[in-house]
Amino acid sequence: MSTVESLTLMLALVYSISLLYWSGKKWGALTCGGLMLVATISSLYWPLIAALAIAAILMTLVAKRYPTLAQGNLRANNLREGFQHLLALSMLLVGVQFTINSALLKAGVTPWLMRPDVADAFLPIAGGIELKAIVSLGIWDQTHPAAAVMLTVVLLTGLLCKRAFCGWACPLGLAGEYLYKLRKRLFSNEYAPPAWLDWPLRMIKYLLLGAMLYIIVGMPSASIPTYLQSHYHKIADLKMALFFITPGVVTIICFALILGLAAWRRQGFCRYLCPYGALLGLISFLSPFKIRRSRQHCLIDSKGMNCDKCSRACPANISVHNQINIRTDECQACMRCISACPNKEALNFRTRTGIKLSARGLTIGLTVLLFAVPLIAHLSDFWVSQTPTEARMYLIQHLKSIGH
Ligand code: SF4
Ligand code: SF4
Repeated sequence: MSTVESLTLMLALVYSISLLYWSGKKWGALTCGGLMLVATISSLYWPLIAALAIAAILMTLVAKRYPTLAQGNLRANNLREGFQHLLALSMLLVGVQFTINSALLKAGVTPWLMRPDVADAFLPIAGGIELKAIVSLGIWDQTHPAAAVMLTVVLLTGLLCKRAFCGWACPLGLAGEYLYKLRKRLFSNEYAPPAWLDWPLRMIKYLLLGAMLYIIVGMPSASIPTYLQSHYHKIADLKMALFFITPGVVTIICFALILGLAAWRRQGFCRYLCPYGALLGLISFLSPFKIRRSRQHCLIDSKGMNCDKCSRACPANISVHNQINIRTDECQACMRCISACPNKEALNFRTRTGIKLSARGLTIGLTVLLFAVPLIAHLSDFWVSQTPTEARMYLIQHLKSIGH
């Protein structure tokens, strides 16, 4: 695990323990903190130990200077945006580190900057094949183990808290939001397609998901060990990097389409093209937490007033004020509707039995899933790629000749 990964992971976990503590679960926070301390020290991995010390010092300073931030007493929108931006910054640093590492390998120089294993999170098909290998053959891939870990983490977020990964964590979603805002400054009109066209467009992402699942499910179990040992699998991350760094005509057209879509319609890429969003959308139907409207408190039913503030705040164009439970696969649990509602009891992100998840609770849950699971994986020796640097250097020199 690289220094950037270690620092991000420890900062996130220490912050989530602070949030847990200030939400009243003091014993839970102290237990989690104690377990994390013991696990980190017993790993004897100095970047993690140093990152934990730095994170603890920073958190103490933040608690003194900015107590509301340390306690998570922020508006939901601020908490979500802070979480998204910090995660995007960390992914940017990881991207730079990965690019430098790959460039040095390509130049035949032994890298002085290690490869960040979390980059494997961008290999969802490899992650799917690895999960299939674990389930059907009991084989744990050691080439890109982080791909299987991160795919599991993302699936768990969908299972527990709808598409909160899209709304709170995805850096592409954040980049799309900025593009959309930029376009709105230049051309203020909305260009949303009519409902009859919107639905078929939304299905495109399911077709792309179907193609990905076809590759994973269609690969016979007997072929998986050979694939996992192949050169192609070993350099799947470098192939992907090359795809982005030296794009061909088709890639450039695809990029232009994606950027245009994100600028044209709010969440256009998430809504129409992202296969990850489609996967999470399907899984999110199983999530016990949903946005639920209380008729007893909503101004429409309780006072007979006209109100649609929740619907107007929704970036996914969901008609919140006309529904009781928001089940749709497009809800990203962003909580903008809750923030916009004038009656704080009218809308909640909760289970059918009444268990509520506040913005602070959701931040804790997401942080634990996104960072504690990789920490456990790392401590269990299932995070770092075992492909030697020399092998990667050889393979990157012969990248163009390595096919499927
Ligand atoms: S319904 Fe609420 S939580 Fe869901 S996407 Fe719309 S604003 Fe966000
Ligand atoms: S914003 Fe609140 S009060 Fe208004 S319609 Fe939505 S849930 Fe009801």
